[in-house]
Amino acid sequence: MVALYKVPKLSDFSPQALDRHVAELLAAVEAEAAAVKTSDTRKAFRDRWLARKGGILTQVNEWLRSAPKDIKPEVGRRVNQLKLEVEKRVEFKAQQVGKAAPESSIDISLPGIRRPIGAEHPITRTMEEIVQVFARLGYSLVEGPIVESDYYNFEALNFPLDHPARDTQDTLFLANQEGKPARERLLLRTHTSPVQIRTMEKVGPPLRILAAGKVHRNDPPDASHSPMFHQIEGLAVDSDITFGDLKGTLDHAMKALFGSQVKTSFRPSFFPFTEPSAEMFVSCFICGGTGRRGEEPCRPCKRTGWIEILGCGMVDPNVFEFVKQRGYDPEKISAFAFGMGVDRIAMLKFGLDDLQLFFQGDLRFLEQFK
Ligand SMILES: [Zn+2]
Repeated sequence: MVALYKVPKLSDFSPQALDRHVAELLAAVEAEAAAVKTSDTRKAFRDRWLARKGGILTQVNEWLRSAPKDIKPEVGRRVNQLKLEVEKRVEFKAQQVGKAAPESSIDISLPGIRRPIGAEHPITRTMEEIVQVFARLGYSLVEGPIVESDYYNFEALNFPLDHPARDTQDTLFLANQEGKPARERLLLRTHTSPVQIRTMEKVGPPLRILAAGKVHRNDPPDASHSPMFHQIEGLAVDSDITFGDLKGTLDHAMKALFGSQVKTSFRPSFFPFTEPSAEMFVSCFICGGTGRRGEEPCRPCKRTGWIEILGCGMVDPNVFEFVKQRGYDPEKISAFAFGMGVDRIAMLKFGLDDLQLFFQGDLRFLEQFK
């Protein structure tokens, strides 16, 4: 049992007297700390020394209050130094007691704690596979911010001001930006296309890039929609890129991803930043393009034998106006772009019919992908 320390009232404020009082107090905190063995006594110890109301460090303030005016600064300095020293000792003790159980209670024959080894998420895996296919064709992966400005997300991609995608019905804008000019308003990017503009601002042609990552739309979650999903977009710029290059590249990529037997088909479509635009279908790799699985109709391709997999097209020359000074002269260069939803491709590859399974964090589901 340690005799409990009491803060003395000071009458002698000479340096020697102060040294003695400081040394006594520090010796006391150390002696009391040595007696603390359990988390209960640890708490009492901590309160006794550090409690704001009536704790020993609070009482020490009295030394400063009662000191003669001319040496107050010196006493103040010593008191502050002392407080730091005491806090250090109390916290150290708290950690020590909190950390280790008494040595005698360790049973080394017990099995250790097993940390479960995770598996790569099916979306990450699918994304990585697609990136690898294009990396072998010379595409490099680029990244950009998820919170974007209207300028990069819409304006520089040739979206007219009244385009429905710019409405809050479709796009998640950050709150309280009504006072800002439209092009400066911040939003969660609705596609990875802004990364293409940002890259072209920095790097001149020729260019072969892949932008991959999270995008957001104002869609309530259901089996085939989610307010957050994943996209991969590609862009190839050079002096003589043709629609034939686009078809050849994507046909090769789809065979690499889904097997050499798949066929591709391009059908006319519309996107604001490409002209002409197309939707690309692959022959259904689940039913082999027959639309049937035995007696049953094939659901993933809705019996058509074809699955829509991505949007693509030749980049509209208007888009290059925004990066013309970086060497993208629409008279001299041409480009194709494509974009695909990673989540949907992952669903097809793994045979899932509910998109939400990916995002619920249910280990029983995720463990299947080990
Ligand atoms: Zn099918």
